[in-house]
Amino acid sequence: MTSSACQVCGSLDHAPYPTPPPYQLTRCRGCGFIWLDPLPTDAQRAELYSDPYQGATTSYFAKVDKKMRRSRGRAGWLARRAPAKGRFLDVGCSGGFMVESMRERGFEAHGLDLDEHSIGFAREHFPACHFNAIPVEPFAEGTDLRFDAIYSSEVIEHVTDANGFIAAIARLLKPGGTFFVTTPDINHWRRPKDLLKWDGYSPPSHCLYFGPKNMPILMARHGLKLKHRRPSFKPGIKMLFVKEA
Ligand SMILES: [Zn+2]
Repeated sequence: MTSSACQVCGSLDHAPYPTPPPYQLTRCRGCGFIWLDPLPTDAQRAELYSDPYQGATTSYFAKVDKKMRRSRGRAGWLARRAPAKGRFLDVGCSGGFMVESMRERGFEAHGLDLDEHSIGFAREHFPACHFNAIPVEPFAEGTDLRFDAIYSSEVIEHVTDANGFIAAIARLLKPGGTFFVTTPDINHWRRPKDLLKWDGYSPPSHCLYFGPKNMPILMARHGLKLKHRRPSFKPGIKMLFVKEA
């Protein structure tokens, strides 16, 4: 068992969560947050993301039209809730579909992704947007840009340091700016009881497992307040937060 504090609530009180071998999950008794224990090391993560088939493949990007349609729908929802049609950032932007969709809505649109192939695709197809192949933490350190709306879909479950990740996002947001996050919901009523039958499990690529009650606790540590929760029929969390002024 780990002796480290819960990344969400800081509690040291946690217990093993029933997990099929070879992995082991730990659950915080304070807030219910669950994590892969031990967490992958930086070297293991680098190995995971060096596999080009994890990222942009020809078949994945063959569905460009479908992906653009889906992104445009979500962009409409987000654009209506942003404080201003200013600057937008997608953290984990993949092929850049959401970035382009927000640009179409009048935003100066930026995207970050660790995968060079994805960023290459995005730059080639959406040249009016801005793309960088770096993690959000060094991006936040190295820029004076501040954003009206930040979006990160199905990314936070992959990171090992949730506070470092959210601190960088909070720093990049303007006061009153919005942050929309999606991630699998391990507490969802439709999550398969057998973790191996749930696509949200996926260790060691996924290593942090949130529920709708503890996600706002993590965000509050960084001055982000829950504004809206979108219902999800699939086992997922979709939440909009606002940076307090
Ligand atoms: Zn906790």
